[in-house]
Amino acid sequence: MFNKQVILNKAKEYNSFYLYDENIILEYTQRLKNNFPQVQFLYSIKSNSHNHVIKTVFSQGFGADAASLGEVQISSEYGLSKEEIYYSAPGKTDHDIVNSMEKSVIIADSLSEIERIDKIAEEKNTVVEIGVRINPNFTFYSSSGVPSKFGIDEEDIYHKLEWLKGLNGVKIVGLHVHSRSQELDVEVMKEYYRKVFDLSFRVQEKLGIQLKFINLGSGLGIPYTKQDEELDTKKLGIETSEMLYKFKGKLSGTKIYIETGRYAVCKSGVYATKVLDIKTSFGKKFVILDNTLNGFIRPSIANMITSYSKDESPCANEPLFTQKNAFEFIVLNNKVETKSVDDSEIETVTLVGNLCTSTDVIADNIYLPKVNVGDIVVVTNAGSYAAALSPMQFATMNPPKQLFLTRNGDII
Ligand SMILES: *Cc1c(COP(=O)(O)O)cnc(C)c1O
Repeated sequence: MFNKQVILNKAKEYNSFYLYDENIILEYTQRLKNNFPQVQFLYSIKSNSHNHVIKTVFSQGFGADAASLGEVQISSEYGLSKEEIYYSAPGKTDHDIVNSMEKSVIIADSLSEIERIDKIAEEKNTVVEIGVRINPNFTFYSSSGVPSKFGIDEEDIYHKLEWLKGLNGVKIVGLHVHSRSQELDVEVMKEYYRKVFDLSFRVQEKLGIQLKFINLGSGLGIPYTKQDEELDTKKLGIETSEMLYKFKGKLSGTKIYIETGRYAVCKSGVYATKVLDIKTSFGKKFVILDNTLNGFIRPSIANMITSYSKDESPCANEPLFTQKNAFEFIVLNNKVETKSVDDSEIETVTLVGNLCTSTDVIADNIYLPKVNVGDIVVVTNAGSYAAALSPMQFATMNPPKQLFLTRNGDII
């Protein structure tokens, strides 16, 4: 849960802000390390690149899942070694490759990228050890593949075996598969891991190599709504250990990685936004808040998708949209601190922002305890894909502050 007093205090200074709690990041990252003792974790920086958030996650021994050259450079500046930074993204330029090859392990995303890395390496008279992202012949839910802008189709690797083996500047030492995010079912995750291992051993055998690493990608989900059941990472960890034991003959010194952004940081963050004005129009009550669509875009997108979709539970499109009711809205004020819906005065309100667009709606016709101007609305699940995703250049508004509550209770 979040620290109400800190939010109320800071709301005197700021009309909208994020608050990240170091203790919660430590809780989630340590849980993963404890539950998966043989696995190493990579933090997907794109989910939240606030410097203290990154520092906290790295302090727990996480490496970096870098989605751009910029994220490779940030990770390197934080002191991570080349072997701790994995650079996976489509469309890397020659400039990206040249500037990341000594700082990170590049995960090639296409055959033409491998060709370019090879050429650059040959010109520099060196051999670059790379990973390859594979677009597998399966998904989380089916045993056939789908077209993807990410990675190389497994079959294409087999068609190019001789060419790959003959490259002088490039040596394939690892595989990366990332198929989807936000899965809560242990059995689905386990089956996915098993399929990635099978795929890795097929590729390993056909290429005639011993892989140095297998990156299982992400998938670790967190409960967004009250109905979601938490992913049993303890059980998944045990299943994974058993799998690793079973496969140990094929895993000679191979490092196993799991990537995560949201699992490490989502629950650590809340977004606080102040009630600037309240009005009623044609009988509908609007609560006008600071920096909603432009400060934390996901609730607005969720509202838009769920209002357009005929489907009761529209499918996710990460990281912009996860599911219906993925955020809780909690009203705080200085008088009673937290108002609960058990309080007598409940009203139906629509939460909107102060932008000049009518799409800036974060919740339409929801029940809230009576809200007054100056109250604070706290939005949960704001530690990942929140500040990092928001269109703060729109309409020249002051962006929300990002505050960090340390384990000692200091606010940075
Ligand atoms: C974004 C991303 C992740 C992180 O996903 P989460 O759901 O936040 O854990 C992991 N791997 C890759 C390749 C990604 O692009």
